Amino acid sequence: MFEQIARVPGDAILGLIEAFNKDTNPQKVDLGVGVYRDANGNTPVMRAVKQAESRLVDNEVTKTYIGSHGDPRFGKVVLPMVLGASSPVLAANRASATQAPGGTGALRLAADFIASNLKGRDIWLSTPTWPNHLGIFDAAGVTRHDYPYVDEHNRLDFAGMLATLKTIPEGDVVLLHACCHNPTGFDLSREQWDQVLEVVQSRKLLPLIDFAYQGFGDGLEEDAYGVRLLAENVDEAIITSSCSKNFGIYCERTGCLILIAKDEENMLDVRSQAAITARENYSNPPAHGGAVVIDILQDDTLRAEWMSELTEMRERINGLRRDFVEALKPYGLDEQFAFIAEQRGMFSYTGLTPEQVDRLRDEFGIYMVRSGRANVAGFSTENLSYVAKAIAAVVK
Ligand code: PLP
Repeated sequence: MFEQIARVPGDAILGLIEAFNKDTNPQKVDLGVGVYRDANGNTPVMRAVKQAESRLVDNEVTKTYIGSHGDPRFGKVVLPMVLGASSPVLAANRASATQAPGGTGALRLAADFIASNLKGRDIWLSTPTWPNHLGIFDAAGVTRHDYPYVDEHNRLDFAGMLATLKTIPEGDVVLLHACCHNPTGFDLSREQWDQVLEVVQSRKLLPLIDFAYQGFGDGLEEDAYGVRLLAENVDEAIITSSCSKNFGIYCERTGCLILIAKDEENMLDVRSQAAITARENYSNPPAHGGAVVIDILQDDTLRAEWMSELTEMRERINGLRRDFVEALKPYGLDEQFAFIAEQRGMFSYTGLTPEQVDRLRDEFGIYMVRSGRANVAGFSTENLSYVAKAIAAVVK
């Protein structure tokens, strides 16, 4: 029976990592990977995480199941982080938190929740979007459609986005990236979020907000502007939050599905459905990452340490964005690429064509995805001028 099953190509990023590892060019630069890198090219364990983990090892007394919603303390610390400590939604008990295996797990819960409970509702995704979004909603059986996000020059196309949102049938789901849009790096301004809210309200859309990079853009609170605006001004919303990047606990699979309902009673209804979805997928989420997040957010000292490390990461990325544009100045390309300093998060749509990306790889040992998406955290003070020179060579 297996003989008729065809092989599918592997993840393009994994192929890129393999090719990078094989490359013997001593100046090679990896701008492909999807994780944060420090100045030495490492993805280290954060100090606050290490401290929380050593305490956990000392104090842990059981490894029993934690339940389909996860550790109840997890929701108590993550909800205020996402929605704001003084959120009216929290005060009204309208938000439910279900701990999930990463942002991906939370998205799959959201997709299954929509498929089971909101039959006939389609989902609208930005073009481009994180490629896994497509697979997750397909796998759950939710029909998807696109709204434009960049124009033909690879710049934010807000007018195009809004025009399409205005045509979405009432009751459909619209997926919005809260901040640090992956893969483009283009985020909405506050005024643009306000306009999105108006359309969501007037078309009666259900917003699903993917919040994978809280704290990586402009700050923990600042990055939540769109999330909180929508949460506070619509009756119903879905939010998927990830702790992978902001706590650097990628492999611990820690995230959260947040369901906001019009009142507490209805919240308890939808919450019960989220538990069933979780149980049918994996029963209980992994506990360790959630325990680390709880420990950090509940302890003032650890929280302050974590905040300062998160700030360090964010400032490094935003500093590298500015330095990269500076490094292009000698080639007269700083204005053409000035938008890179304005983008947010780890990723940048550089606007480079697949052919230019291929030349960067073949001639200079610089690796990035063929869409022209670069991981800015792969830049370093040492390689910036080399990358700038290479880019000047391929764009001229
Ligand atoms: N959503 C977006 C836009 C992402 O970029 C990612 C990770 O790359 C995720 C969700 C999922 O993150 P996690 O690693 O927590 O599953």
